[in-house]
Amino acid sequence: MLNTETFSPEETFQLGQKIGEQAKPGELYTLIGDLGVGKTVLTQGIARGLGIEEPISSPTFTIVQVYEEGRMPFYHFDVYRIGDVEEMEEIGYEEYFYGQGITMIEWANLIEEILPNHYREIRIEKDLEQGFDYRRITVREVTK
Ligand code: ADP
Ligand code: MG
Repeated sequence: MLNTETFSPEETFQLGQKIGEQAKPGELYTLIGDLGVGKTVLTQGIARGLGIEEPISSPTFTIVQVYEEGRMPFYHFDVYRIGDVEEMEEIGYEEYFYGQGITMIEWANLIEEILPNHYREIRIEKDLEQGFDYRRITVREVTK
């Protein structure tokens, strides 16, 4: 369990970069947090840590965006607009979740029933009392 605080987007990016540098093939991360909290900023850092140079955007219209140019494949899911887990089966999610790349899923709570038995959850929260740019970021291992 990692419990940390950041005070700027750059710091959140750097934390992501560290996570990306330490990531191992086959790992799956879920990313939980409200709109505008910094999920994309963190994901961009993770991508950089994996050696991906091209810009990362939110895969809003595609469910999954695949990046092959890094140290290992990076599968960035955003399941916010998903209607049914059947849509995940249609895109063959198991190839990604159980493959040799890194999988990152925004809004993973919407597809909880198909998450693997073991994954890491990253949670980002604001606390306005601590300032506008403050974020609490926790990473924990989940075993179902
Ligand atoms: P999400 O993907 O969660 O909707 P984004 O990453 O797109 O959110 O946007 C986060 C916004 O919050 C950016 O405008 C960023 O500059 C700002 N921000 C301010 N402080 C932080 C921080 N400590 N960490 C991450 N983002 C921050
Ligand atoms: Mg986003």
